[in-house]
Amino acid sequence: MDKIIRGVLKFNSRMRKDYTADIDRFSQKVVKPLTVFITCMDSRLNPITFVQANPGEVFCIRNPGNMVPHYCEAEAEGISAEGAGLELGCIMNDIGNVVVCGHSDCKAVNSLYAQRNCWHRIQERTMDSPLKSWLSLHGLQTVQKFTKLFSEEDQQRSARGETILGGFKFNFGREEFVCNVDPNNKFNLEDKLSQFHCLQQASNVASYPLLQPYLKKGEVKIHAMWFDVSKGQMHLFSPTNGYFIPIEETSADELAKEITS
Ligand SMILES: [Zn+2]
Repeated sequence: MDKIIRGVLKFNSRMRKDYTADIDRFSQKVVKPLTVFITCMDSRLNPITFVQANPGEVFCIRNPGNMVPHYCEAEAEGISAEGAGLELGCIMNDIGNVVVCGHSDCKAVNSLYAQRNCWHRIQERTMDSPLKSWLSLHGLQTVQKFTKLFSEEDQQRSARGETILGGFKFNFGREEFVCNVDPNNKFNLEDKLSQFHCLQQASNVASYPLLQPYLKKGEVKIHAMWFDVSKGQMHLFSPTNGYFIPIEETSADELAKEITS
């Protein structure tokens, strides 16, 4: 804890003044929150910095593996921190965008990948490991769909550098779209699974009945983002193209147009 306490002292001396000035500035005007941002608790991710958000603009929910428990799988139907956070953000604070953000080298997803061939067993809850139970319960759909899309033989071909294309349908609450994970074969299998997993968790947002009228009217939109940790590069999923595209000067306008239309 010593480093944590020293960090607070550093914040006090170098940043507290600017921080409180920002809070003052934003409390004097109506700040419209922009998004509910659901991401992994991995310490390498710093979502507020990545999107350069001001105080009050991003409602952040973090957990192991950027999970959004499906409404039917949340404890006692719908009771989960993530479900409560969606209601607080989208219903009580009129936030019109939900982002689910995955990332490369995700330890939670790597663990799912390691268990991909025994998914029929990973449904079992293990009393001695809340983490395993969490991953099993909420990552099962990801693994089932991924192994259906990529056979073991496909996975070996992909590991040898061959591009494997396979579409899978997802639905973010309006129309269905087809995703082709990593069509340029830039990422290893664990990271392909991570991108696929991110889309699955984003589609789980649409399972919450209280959001469905807002999704149908387009008052709430669901998006998937994915962060490449080693390159420091954020991607946004393009439903039209069916894969994650790096957000750069050359792509930003087109992506913004697509997801706001
Ligand atoms: Zn992670």
